[in-house]
Parts: sequence; C-alpha cells; structure tokens
Amino acid sequence: MISNEHVTKVYKMGEVDLTVIKDLNLEIKHGEFVAIVGPSGSGKSTVLNLLGCLDKPSDGKVIIDGVDVTKLDTTALANFRGENIGFIFQSFNLIPVLSVYENIEYPLIMIQNLPKEERNRRIMQLLKDVDMLDQKDKFPDQLSGGQRQRVAIARALVTKPKIVFADEPTANLDTETSNQIITLMRNIQREFNTTFIFATHDEKIVTAVDRIITIVDGVITDDRRITS
Ligand code: ADP
Ligand code: MG
Repeated sequence: MISNEHVTKVYKMGEVDLTVIKDLNLEIKHGEFVAIVGPSGSGKSTVLNLLGCLDKPSDGKVIIDGVDVTKLDTTALANFRGENIGFIFQSFNLIPVLSVYENIEYPLIMIQNLPKEERNRRIMQLLKDVDMLDQKDKFPDQLSGGQRQRVAIARALVTKPKIVFADEPTANLDTETSNQIITLMRNIQREFNTTFIFATHDEKIVTAVDRIITIVDGVITDDRRITS
C-alpha cells in the first residue's frame, strides 16, 4: 500500500514560497488502477513525483509498504525506486543511442544485478507482450509515437515493479494507439496485480480506471471509485 500523510510541497521561487501541494492525505492499495485528474497546473505531476520517489515533500510522509521513503538517503531511495517503481512519461524519455532492446535492458543493468540470460528472458517476454519483438534492434527515432510508448512501458515493467506511475502517457498518441496502450496496461494490472497510477486529462484513461482522484490547486476535491 502507498500512503501519503499530510504531504505538502513548497517551491521556493526567489523570495516567494509557492505551495503547490497542501496537506495531502491519500491511500492507494496494491493492484489499483487509478487516475489523478485536474486542470493543468493543479499539481498532478508533483503528486506523482512525490509518490514515485522522484521528489521529496517539504513536509509530511510518503509510506510505501511500511517504508517511510522520505527518511531514505539518496542511495537507499534510488535502490528502493529501482526495486519497486516504474515510470512512464508523456514524452517517452527513451535513450536515443540505445536500441529498443537496450533501452528495455537499461534499468536491469543500472539497478538489478541479474545474470544476462535472465535479463534476456525478461526482455524477450516483454517485447512479445508489447508487440515489439520485430522492432527490437531499431532505434527510438525509427519508431512511431505509439511504438516508443510501448518500449517505455516495457522498460517500466522490466524490473517487475509493484507500482507504475504514468504521467500523461497518452498525451502524444492518437486515439487508437492510446486505447491499445491503455488496454495493454490494464492487462498487465490484471495479470500481475501491478498498481497503476496515472496523471491525466485524457477521457480515454479516465473512463478506463477504477478510481478517479481529482485535485485542484494542490488539494483533493473528489475521490471516487467506479463500480463496473
Ligand atoms: P500538473 O501536472 O497538474 O499540470 P504540476 O504538478 O506540474 O501540475 O505543477 C503544479 C504547480 O507547481 C504549477 O503551478 C507549476 O507551475 C508549479 N511547479 C511545478 N514544478 C515546479 C518547480 N520545479 N519549481 C517551481 N514551481 C513548479
Ligand atoms: Mg503534469
């Protein structure tokens, strides 16, 4: 479980303190497929980065499976993130000089000390899952947006994270590709009980999730579960 207790985030802008997240309290259980929605600038990405251990709160706690991640030092935090968390970004963030295969392999080399055969087994399985096996030797600039996002999803999943954070993952994709990507993530969530937390304004994601958390000006204004 991921929980957030009295989390506040203040950015210092010269002389001025800009409070973008105010006393946020949130609980997300494993296996949830949840969207954080709200107007642009409301704090969605900031919340994702705080929960995903990419950023530290100014005040309050972020607890993931009983670990207060705000208390970890930089190395411990990087290890924790590597073992537990995957990130998918709007702009894919693939490494241009690495092939599709190498992009997916990258987090395994950086973080988890796996033998080469085990790495290869996982990468080949994921390439199959995201339907990119025949593109494995291509480079990011030879791929379409949808293909790049498939690679980014495979890269986020290769470490077998319990939680995947996806910040506007469909914002640069057309409708059909977006729907395919959403279905792919849904299937992974069902099969592996992976938690998916989206920040999005995309209606296609909003109608696909089980829970919608609305945030306005850094405050949760609505939190509803969808019963299908
Ligand atoms: P959203 O993802 O909902 O569009 P963000 O979390 O990106 O919102 O931003 C929330 C607010 O915090 C915005 O007003 C934004 O300008 C501000 N903000 C985000 N990152 C920084 C930063 N690094 N320094 C200063 N202000 C920031
Ligand atoms: Mg954002």
